[in-house]
Amino acid sequence: MPARTFRSSDDSDHSYSRARAARTLTLFCGVCLLAPAAASAQNGGTTFVAMPKPSKIACVSSCESKTAVRGGGSIKVSGKQLSGVSKVIFTGSRGKRDDVEVQVDPASDRAIKLKVPMGARTGPLMVWAGERAQAKTKSVKIMPPPPPIKSAELTPSSGPADPGAPPLETGTSDTKFFLGERGGIEFKYRVGGSAPVKATVTLVRQNDGAIVQTWEAPSVAPGTIQSIRWEGSAPEGVAPQGRYIFLLSVTDGSGAVARSAGVDNPQRDAFDLWHFVFPVRGTHNYGQAGARFGAARSGHTHQGQDVMSACGVKLVAARGGVVKFKGYQGNAGNYLVIDLDGDDRDQAYMHLASASPLDKGDRVYTNQFIGPVGDTGDATACHLHFEEWSAPGWYDGGAPFDPLADLQAWDAYS
Ligand SMILES: [Zn+2]
Repeated sequence: MPARTFRSSDDSDHSYSRARAARTLTLFCGVCLLAPAAASAQNGGTTFVAMPKPSKIACVSSCESKTAVRGGGSIKVSGKQLSGVSKVIFTGSRGKRDDVEVQVDPASDRAIKLKVPMGARTGPLMVWAGERAQAKTKSVKIMPPPPPIKSAELTPSSGPADPGAPPLETGTSDTKFFLGERGGIEFKYRVGGSAPVKATVTLVRQNDGAIVQTWEAPSVAPGTIQSIRWEGSAPEGVAPQGRYIFLLSVTDGSGAVARSAGVDNPQRDAFDLWHFVFPVRGTHNYGQAGARFGAARSGHTHQGQDVMSACGVKLVAARGGVVKFKGYQGNAGNYLVIDLDGDDRDQAYMHLASASPLDKGDRVYTNQFIGPVGDTGDATACHLHFEEWSAPGWYDGGAPFDPLADLQAWDAYS
């Protein structure tokens, strides 16, 4: 997977000098490794690229503590021979999977200022000059970005505006959006003033600055509430999980521009996209050894993970799709199987206290109620028996696999 790219401008962060004065802390010391190549041959010619020598990293903004920066904050890398540096890779943990690349344009030989992408994880930085000269720093501790600010109702926005530009109000329906939820996520806005304006709404992925979708309205009447919905699609297909932000820009008849927020504000009209929601909407635990996938049963092994919870607790679809089976069976009790949208797997829910209100063939949305936790069928206590099956699906040529890691991951954020 190629490293993701996040563009960082040295001039865009107005809080920089103030923050620098307040925080001159040194987080990390020396260079741990220097690659051997200092000369780089490109396009047949030979270009000398000085080996960058980063020596310390200081948190500049969104500093969580003396030793940690939050995602979306910024840091300064100081050292020598830095003017040739063109990119910095936040390497995260081992392997390239979580690498996030930032293009940089150093203002001097001694310092590089850069934004910490929202998707960057704790780990060393690789500082690159040209194609071959690279230096690795010590690990940078990166904390999760602050959560988005709830603003479902319209509130005045305080983004950058030209004198005379109309005032803006914006709101976003939620701070979390689960892929496949009914109606998608909604962004609303209202423009003040007295004359129609041209409006553009852009949905930006905060991790890498990519524009996911743009909505243009050539003439928006003042005082009217405008609404835009997004359902999770991106140019590459299903949008990846992460922080997203709606940005509104309007231009009035005189050319004055007002914006709802800056890309530097990762909390306003922002939300986190997740691909699944945890299905048991109440207190729960993962039971004893017998609750595990693969546990022995008389004549077979346990094909799912049990999630212990009180009778009657609400169950929702972890992911939407189409109801593939609904029924009652001696072992499973009331059960429901969903063929997921945008994903190869099937998911099965068993021992529901009563038959699901859904029927075979029904469309089901992520986070939609599918029935109550129960103990119908072969069960000694109320719980959800949850299965995941690989393609082509449940008793359809697929195979069950251990869903515990998925459940725990969804449980952690939803
Ligand atoms: Zn079970």
